[in-house]
Amino acid sequence: RWVYMNGDYVKKEEATVSIFDHGFLYGDGIFEGIRAYEGNVFRLRDHLKRLYESAHSILLEIPYTIEEMEELVLQAVRKNDLKNAYIRLVVSRGKGDLSLNPATCKEPQVIIIVDQVAMFPQRMYDEGVSIMTVPTRRNVPDALNPKIKSLNYLNNILVKLEANQAGVGEALMLNQAGYVAEGSGDNIFIIKKGTLYTPPGYIGALEGITRQAIIDLCDRHGYTVKEEPFTRHDVYVADEVFLTGTAAEVIAVVKVDGRVVGDGKPGPITNHLLEEFRGLVTVDGSQ
Ligand code: PLP
Repeated sequence: RWVYMNGDYVKKEEATVSIFDHGFLYGDGIFEGIRAYEGNVFRLRDHLKRLYESAHSILLEIPYTIEEMEELVLQAVRKNDLKNAYIRLVVSRGKGDLSLNPATCKEPQVIIIVDQVAMFPQRMYDEGVSIMTVPTRRNVPDALNPKIKSLNYLNNILVKLEANQAGVGEALMLNQAGYVAEGSGDNIFIIKKGTLYTPPGYIGALEGITRQAIIDLCDRHGYTVKEEPFTRHDVYVADEVFLTGTAAEVIAVVKVDGRVVGDGKPGPITNHLLEEFRGLVTVDGSQ
């Protein structure tokens, strides 16, 4: 495997960054997780737009245009000769001194890792997953805005740890006001009487590329989707619940905080959307 690092391809085992990189020291940087399906990099442009918006927001100048970056990602996929791949694109502030000051970092570090996809077990799609709400709340927008996909994921990691400690696979985060925000690395949808609901971005959620793909599929197939705030109670009494994300794709949730959702099995709309999503991923993107 070859890793792209600021203009060079380095063997995976030899790809290292400085301990003085502010990405390492302070989480000062941004990233994207992207997938290639049969050589098609799914919605690469949308991932790059989000990356460049995250960068803009933290005053990090990526040394390539979005077109150049698109070409670099596609090139890295080809170089690794993987048709189905997980791509991790990282841009950190780069090497600086020990102060917090980003001005000491002269050159951002751009990294493109292309690796095999760690697929979720089929059983999780067939049976659905159990999730729980955790004590850690989604951080407020001005501190670590959930819309910025920054390298500082400690909030999400705490949430994951809390779920792990309770023996549950995935966590559901509420925001400070108690509205449902998102999972540790996934967005959430609930379905009630045939209508889908997903929290709006301002509630405190990353605007997921998979989330948008599902909204688009709903438009195409005549399902109504509302971006509206909802509470834990609404999740408990939903007919269907599912999570979306680049890694998870579309995964049914069958239990939340011990409450069985619907009839305890992945529901028909969730299954339909998963099937449609799997049809979309090989054709919608960049090759
Ligand atoms: N929410 C968070 C916090 C994430 O890290 C991710 C993963 O990128 C998502 C949601 C899902 O977003 P996407 O569908 O773009 O992978």
